Amino acid sequence: MPIINQAKSAAVVVDDEKCIAEKGCRVCVDVCPLDILAIDENRQKAYMKYDECWYCMPCEVDCPTNAVTVHIPYLLR
Ligand code: SF4
Ligand code: SF4
Repeated sequence: MPIINQAKSAAVVVDDEKCIAEKGCRVCVDVCPLDILAIDENRQKAYMKYDECWYCMPCEVDCPTNAVTVHIPYLLR
């Protein structure tokens, strides 16, 4: 498990302006092997539900609108 300050810098950020989950997109949720991404039912936007990440990147790479940014911690680069 990452320690707290690493987890904070590891946040996966979704740009609400670009996310098209309200149109039915679930790509990032489906490709994440850890199931840590989810769709906020109220806002109909994707978000990071659980603060755990492998930095494997398909969520960012496969998002059709480039809405996802994975902030890889400095120590892992
Ligand atoms: S893949 Fe991109 S557009 Fe689709 S739900 Fe995830 S963040 Fe939104
Ligand atoms: S980088 Fe990998 S583990 Fe992290 S949110 Fe994206 S798909 Fe999931």
